Amino acid sequence: MTPGQRAEARIAELGIREPKDLDVEAIAFDAGVSVCYAPLIGCEATLVGFGSRAIATIRNSPVRGRERFSIGHELAHWELHRGKSFRCGVDEPALNLESNVALEREADEFASHLLMPKPLFNPVVRAYKWPTIAQVQDVADTFQTSQSATLIRMAKVDTLPVIVACYSLDKRLWHCAAPHVPRRWRLKSKPDADSFAHELLTRGAPTLVPRKQSADAWFENDDAEKYELLEQCVPGMPGKVLVTLYLTEDEMFDAGYDPDVRWKR
Ligand SMILES: [Zn+2]
Repeated sequence: MTPGQRAEARIAELGIREPKDLDVEAIAFDAGVSVCYAPLIGCEATLVGFGSRAIATIRNSPVRGRERFSIGHELAHWELHRGKSFRCGVDEPALNLESNVALEREADEFASHLLMPKPLFNPVVRAYKWPTIAQVQDVADTFQTSQSATLIRMAKVDTLPVIVACYSLDKRLWHCAAPHVPRRWRLKSKPDADSFAHELLTRGAPTLVPRKQSADAWFENDDAEKYELLEQCVPGMPGKVLVTLYLTEDEMFDAGYDPDVRWKR
């Protein structure tokens, strides 16, 4: 089983059917992990095990979603990587997407599935056609998760034809596409001057609802100019923007092989 499947199997075993019952501290305690909070310096969370019990220490955060994500992440280390102690630097899956540390990404996958299990998450996402930023925040509030963790899960759960990405003015920091989005679409490595994301980075104006945009503002493929998509974007960490792209045209899924695309994303 993948880390995500293990997390969702745990939720099923516990008989949890409502987002409000996703009490991550109780789930951790049931697995032998006690949670405490402290003003940690230099890291977001630690895990120390003793025999069949462990203590996860979580850095206090004003954002409850980040604390909850850290608990899920430390529980993942306990479940998946037992026998080691951990000092973890991030409480946001977006930050681990910028790095490549395998154990950290496994722990993030477990935490994302634990806090937003597909059987509970999908019906909430499906209630919206193309979720606006406010609607994404409603989903985040329902699951008590951060906005970026929710957006990443929205892509990975593969319900909507969506790409989520994070850009600074000079580069793409990470991106996450729904698995059914054709891999032929090659996302630009910098924000295009015509994109709303560029406008946000240079003029501070967010786009809080999905707006029509030419696909060639986002994809390098020569034929991108033939298509339109929906773009919205909000500020992320300082100097970064979080972009949501909805591929609304069926033709983008039927566009077929692009010989100019090198097969990496
Ligand atoms: Zn970790």
